[in-house]
Amino acid sequence: MTPKSPRGTANNISLMLNTVLGKDRFDKGPVDVQELAVEYTRQIAPDSHIEHVIAEDLPGCDGALVPGDSQPRRWAIMYDRKQNAGRRAYTIAHELGHFMLHRELVDNDPDFDGGFYCSKEAVEHGAGRDIEKEANEFAANLLMPLDDYRRQIPSDQLASLERLGDAASRYGVSLTAASLRWLEYTTTRAMVIASVDGFALWAKPSEAAFKSGRFLRTRSDPFELPAASLAARKAPAKESLEGIRQNAGIWFPEPTVEMCMRSDKYDFELTLLHFEGRAPAYQAEDEFEDSYTQFFKIGARG
Ligand SMILES: [Zn+2]
Repeated sequence: MTPKSPRGTANNISLMLNTVLGKDRFDKGPVDVQELAVEYTRQIAPDSHIEHVIAEDLPGCDGALVPGDSQPRRWAIMYDRKQNAGRRAYTIAHELGHFMLHRELVDNDPDFDGGFYCSKEAVEHGAGRDIEKEANEFAANLLMPLDDYRRQIPSDQLASLERLGDAASRYGVSLTAASLRWLEYTTTRAMVIASVDGFALWAKPSEAAFKSGRFLRTRSDPFELPAASLAARKAPAKESLEGIRQNAGIWFPEPTVEMCMRSDKYDFELTLLHFEGRAPAYQAEDEFEDSYTQFFKIGARG
């Protein structure tokens, strides 16, 4: 089977949605991915489409794409019922990604006999096998097309957590998903860190930040946030959201602007850093892709 491009496959659907709903479709609401999963697959695979999108108790998984027993196959997407609407949309889009890109594996690879079962790390970060990364990329492109996102927050502009929150609402996804997507295209030097009790779960720099040597190593030891950080000192919500300037040396050699939002419901903090000043001389082209998978392994461990 010819590998399909996650981005190209998602962009084709986006073009179709633009035609049907108008280019301003996100002004009216996010992608209705639940309806899309059923209706779109019915059009492209009338004999073998996704029949149901179902809430389930899925211990250890955020979502699954499961084949039925009949031939030709019908499919179901299951999502863990504990997720809120934003995470649920991303999970369903991820499973639709497996359908669009990988469903042949169910008949060709014994590992996938029973379908695709996806952990939180796989859905949120594309961790694990390559197909998880591909489904993750598909979901991000489908729910947050870059042409629209760039109109909301141009690539050379600094984003506040409030603006990223607005983007999350526009696309019907979590603040985490909206932040990770923005980091993929911004040309500013920025970093987002998720932490619990002052320890990083994962951290992701923008490419410009990474290439200037700004990233956190959390692979071997838990990374403890600086004592002066908003998250570690549990600063008031208003101050955290507005942001503060941190002196050189607190986080990195240069001063940073730091913002933080605590999610009481999910019991973690999201910190956004903007690095001041011009980028130091670029490092050699390093493996940017790897700059981030290594970080959240702590989260996966815990
Ligand atoms: Zn998956």
